[in-house]
Amino acid sequence: MTAKKIPFLSLSLAECGEVFRAMGASPRHAQWVRRNLLHGRPPVANPRTGFTLPLGFLESFEQEYTWCSSLSVEQIQGGDGSEKHLLQLADGQRIEAVRMPGKAAPSACLSSQVGCAMACRFCASGLNGVVRNLEAHEILEQVVVLRRRGAVQRLVFMGAGEAVQNLQALKTVLPVLRDEGSLGPRYVLVSTVGPPQAIDRLASLDLKVTLALSLHSLDQELRGELIPTQAHVEPLELLNAADRYRQHSGRSYQVEYVLLGGVNDSRADARDLARAMKGRRGHLSLIAWNPIPEMAFEQPSQAAVRAFMEVLHQEGISCTLRQTVGEQATAACGQLRAGTYPNHTTSNSGMIVP
Ligand code: SF4
Repeated sequence: MTAKKIPFLSLSLAECGEVFRAMGASPRHAQWVRRNLLHGRPPVANPRTGFTLPLGFLESFEQEYTWCSSLSVEQIQGGDGSEKHLLQLADGQRIEAVRMPGKAAPSACLSSQVGCAMACRFCASGLNGVVRNLEAHEILEQVVVLRRRGAVQRLVFMGAGEAVQNLQALKTVLPVLRDEGSLGPRYVLVSTVGPPQAIDRLASLDLKVTLALSLHSLDQELRGELIPTQAHVEPLELLNAADRYRQHSGRSYQVEYVLLGGVNDSRADARDLARAMKGRRGHLSLIAWNPIPEMAFEQPSQAAVRAFMEVLHQEGISCTLRQTVGEQATAACGQLRAGTYPNHTTSNSGMIVP
């Protein structure tokens, strides 16, 4: 049996430097190689640097280490430039990551866990519960894989899992992305359904990422039906926690509201939302639900979406309806899951560009 290779990005920069030194290269080589990897370039290709690795280095290195332990085993094109990758991790678990084109900046939607424990009734990621948290290097490797396909200038943790349930990895990943991947925290958005304590914990870490609060209803009972694991949480308390996050971090926040046809998309729902948002400094982002075969929800009608937005505008609340992309990739918000999507070529849903 061959021993498992060590993922290069599971080591810190200092540790990589030590490994390189022990193999006859210099720590600066390690720095160069890591930057290449994190920018999606081949690890040892950068003619401008003039670096050359000692003879035989790569052969010895690759016996023990792997540049990227996650394999992209399936790619689905959205037909509009979006691309979903099914990644197989070293232990055989599978996750998804998506590269999305963007008018201003191409972005990537990353997973932070295998599956998700939150069990939102309208989301595929929570269908089978959570298997485990991703390791920091498994999050970095999603960036590596997606950047090999093209530029990525923004990251959103809106794939499978709750990043606030995996803060240990997030704490490791963000400085690496900032210092070696040219992706500072202001270009990183972390989405959460709560509870308020999770948002406060995120604030206390001072990571300076943008918060996205997944609200979906102001009615605690309805929200509890949609997100059973959060049934005990009062929605206004979540908005208060988002305000505290803004005060603490100086970063604005988003409020996400998935419109489910006939469930939370009435004018009365819009009025409740407007009342709750009044005076707050968060930006409201509406999302028309993306269908998932196992789920009985319906997409909101265009008329309902228009009426919903009209009420909000009348109440002076600025909001946007997220542009949908990735129609055929089933890579939209709430559609990511582990494993192959059962119906990916026929879905008529859209992908969200945050
Ligand atoms: S919407 Fe987010 S929190 Fe809810 S199940 Fe899906 S991934 Fe988890």
